Amino acid sequence: HTQDFFVSTKPAHGKVGRVPVGIGRRRMRIVVTGGAGFVGSHLVDKLIGRGDEVIVIDNFFTGRKENVVHLFGNPRFELIRHDVVEPVLLEVDQIYHLACPASPVHYKYNPVKTIKTNVMGTLNMLGLAKRVGARFLLTSTSEVYGDPLQHPQKETYWGNVNPIGERSCYDEGKRTAETLTMDYHRGANVEVRIARIFNTYGPRMCLDDGRVVSNFVAQAIRKQPMTVYGDGKQTRSFQYVSDLVDGLVALMEGEHIGPFNLGNPGEFTMLELAEVVKDTIDPSATIEYKPNTADDPHMRKPDISKAKELLNWEPKIPLREGLPLMVNDFRNRILNQDEGKGA
Ligand code: NAD
Ligand code: UDP
Ligand code: UDP
Repeated sequence: HTQDFFVSTKPAHGKVGRVPVGIGRRRMRIVVTGGAGFVGSHLVDKLIGRGDEVIVIDNFFTGRKENVVHLFGNPRFELIRHDVVEPVLLEVDQIYHLACPASPVHYKYNPVKTIKTNVMGTLNMLGLAKRVGARFLLTSTSEVYGDPLQHPQKETYWGNVNPIGERSCYDEGKRTAETLTMDYHRGANVEVRIARIFNTYGPRMCLDDGRVVSNFVAQAIRKQPMTVYGDGKQTRSFQYVSDLVDGLVALMEGEHIGPFNLGNPGEFTMLELAEVVKDTIDPSATIEYKPNTADDPHMRKPDISKAKELLNWEPKIPLREGLPLMVNDFRNRILNQDEGKGA
């Protein structure tokens, strides 16, 4: 009982009044935008688990209440249906800004909305951080490197992005979000952190979001062929979601602004990924070739030496260990979906 303090609701001198939680740490009030999404919901679980108060802001474009429903009723959890393109007034200590569709299928669906979310949404959250003196973390992306001409990618690489292509709403949106973040830091002294996240997978990914891991896993479970785009020789490096969440928290709590690559350096061609899915789910799974999409990066692999050195972070779960951890979740949801259709 003695440890069950509340954070005051009024800002004191631009900071939310903080009170102790346990020994040596203070309970904080933390906003997670996009907290009903895949990565956000796992992050929220970790923050709630360690005793903080969490406010999720989400417009449910790609997020789902199911991802956080287990937290309903917890007095330290709050869920607000809100679009970050519109301003919002809150009193908080930290802002994890994740709101933005991440699957290419989703972010290309309404590209102008994707840009608004990245630019106006990030501006609003930075304005909020400035007003209340909160620390702000941006979840940027490996897509800022575009179709990279350096391999693996270091944070010092400026990238090779097509500014007028179908992926630009996301790539350039995130690049602008990084610029805004640094300009609020330099111009208004906002405490900021920038993570460049590489392809991440795990439970709670949307079933039909078009990303390669969720596609292959769902296809193998449904006994459909796995759709390999192009020749399947393009590469990606796949990170399990709990590793990413650990990295995001280490970054937020650490002293360094970044940007930091957060990803697993294990690099796979799409054909190799299909083999791992086959070994994990169904040895009789087949593949089917489909035309690739425009501007698809040929290769991607993070250089994580900076995060290792300055954040003391590195991923722990290789693909062959992480994939089985999402299969049960996918099986259950596919089963429910099929039952819902009366199949
Ligand atoms: P996701 O689509 O599951 O989650 C995004 C969440 O943001 C969803 O809950 C969605 O409803 C919400 N959202 C979108 N637009 C919004 C708006 N205008 N206002 C309020 N909420 C909004 O995606 P994710 O994989 O969880 O990605 C989270 C973040 O991490 C994104 O910013 C993404 O760009 C970044 N990222 C993810 C990956 C990855 O592989 N998962 C890689 C690089 C970067
Ligand atoms: N903003 C917000 N919540 C706040 C403070 C600001 O949503 O608590 C928004 C604000 O509406 C503005 C943006 O953040 O659109 C940038 O705010 P800032 O104060 O930096 O700039 P200004 O309002 O002067 O344009
Ligand atoms: N891809 C694929 N089959 C699919 C979906 C994607 O071969 O069903 C390929 C896609 O062409 C890309 C890679 O997988 O080369 C990763 O795509 P994803 O959409 O997961 O993420 P990206 O890294 O492109 O943002």
